[in-house]
Amino acid sequence: MSARPFALSDEAAPVRDASPRTRAEASLPLPTRAREALAIIEAAGGEAWCVGGCVRDALLGRPVHDVDIAASLPWPVTQAAFREAGWSTVETGVAHGTLTVISEGEPFEITTYRCDGTYSDGRHPDAVTPAATIQEDLRRRDFTINALAYHPERGIIDPFGGIADMEAGLLRCVGDPATRFEEDALRILRGCRFASQLGCAIEPATFEAMVASKYLLQKVSGERVYHELERFFCGEYVHDALMATVDVLAFVLPELVAMKGCPQVTPYHIYDVLEHTAFVLQHTPPTPLGRWVALFHDMGKPAAAFFEERDGRSVEHFYGHPWISANLAEGIMHRLPFPAWLRRDVPPLVHRHDDEVAPTPRAVRRALARLGGRADLFEALCDIKRADALSQAPFCAPRAEGAERLRELLHEVLAAGDAFTMKQLAIGGDDVMALGVEAGPEVGRILQACLDAVIDGTLPNERAALLAFAREQRDA
Ligand code: ATP
Ligand code: MG
Repeated sequence: MSARPFALSDEAAPVRDASPRTRAEASLPLPTRAREALAIIEAAGGEAWCVGGCVRDALLGRPVHDVDIAASLPWPVTQAAFREAGWSTVETGVAHGTLTVISEGEPFEITTYRCDGTYSDGRHPDAVTPAATIQEDLRRRDFTINALAYHPERGIIDPFGGIADMEAGLLRCVGDPATRFEEDALRILRGCRFASQLGCAIEPATFEAMVASKYLLQKVSGERVYHELERFFCGEYVHDALMATVDVLAFVLPELVAMKGCPQVTPYHIYDVLEHTAFVLQHTPPTPLGRWVALFHDMGKPAAAFFEERDGRSVEHFYGHPWISANLAEGIMHRLPFPAWLRRDVPPLVHRHDDEVAPTPRAVRRALARLGGRADLFEALCDIKRADALSQAPFCAPRAEGAERLRELLHEVLAAGDAFTMKQLAIGGDDVMALGVEAGPEVGRILQACLDAVIDGTLPNERAALLAFAREQRDA
């Protein structure tokens, strides 16, 4: 894997040309309340630093989303100081020296300097020993780019070359990688996730240890695996990260193994199933729904594949792969604790991703009806169709415009108030029963016939017309 500099996100555009080293010489953009928190600790006789992800993100010119503080004081002393200053405090992890302090709804985690031992639950160290200095505290942190501390007056502490690694675009463990992964296997997945979020390469010795230690991932809880994988797949650099770390991720997603190197011998494809999937992920908006559908959409291809001789050439087919893909998705979503809404919404989209939808309002209404009338799912279907087209042979790319046309048609159908669900019909079950049809499946059949006719445009969604049509259906 070759190193390349971290690429900056669009939000960082104004400071795009600044490097982490240049930013380190200026003052970092920190929330005012974080500065106040540092001052409160220091007024109480302690020493405090902003640490970890917030320093990393500020140096990379990325948005800072949460500020963690490391402090020399024991937590009860910190708590007293913040109470006196009028902040509220929550004892979120005091067994490990962590206290959350809140001012006007803005929370900060403050952790007493510490050294950690092993983390048998992959979340908290089994025992924490207080550390005397910030330098010692930074040594327990996972990667060099996360082992940074910053103070608005005292500047940056970077004992392990985190800024140099940022400049080189490298993710490197603090200390011996194998030991660090043995202490806490979650770091293996965090490493993959940072590669996907930040666009960095993984330093060779760190990567070698990730592969050799991946078996330890069996100790990490399903919740944590799911959480890290979701962040991985929603990353800005997911294509490169998936191609680079597939052998590591395979331990928790063994379905990836069959995708890697599975050729697609058809005129429509130039990549194997894994790399095609990596490109589809990259072209899909970074939401959990979109990215999980992208990951799963062709997972069934290796199992569906067969060859046909045509005009003296071998051509590969994957008939039925969306059905297998949807089943594999259900299996994975059962194995890892996915939330109920993803278990409900992902499989139908995976199953339908290859359905032909003609560019007509009628076909769009029908497809919407098949998706339970959910416009948000139809949008996600357009997203996967577009990304799929952009990730095949170059001559397929214009099909992406077809997906955009479907999206426009969806908006037209919605704006016109067209009906595509039973609920939108101008009559209901009571009206059908009032025509003398007994409560039961026949009512549903008649309403479905009405809806089909409305969707097809052969019947207006008006009460009188629908009642007349329902009467014909009753007598048919
Ligand atoms: P993000 O908040 O974007 O997930 P982060 O690096 O801030 O990234 P947090 O989980 O918020 O991650 O942790 C804050 C800091 O704590 C990290 O930057 C790192 O220094 C340290 N840290 C977190 N988890 C671990 C771990 N499992 N092993 C060692 N250090 C860790
Ligand atoms: Mg963080």
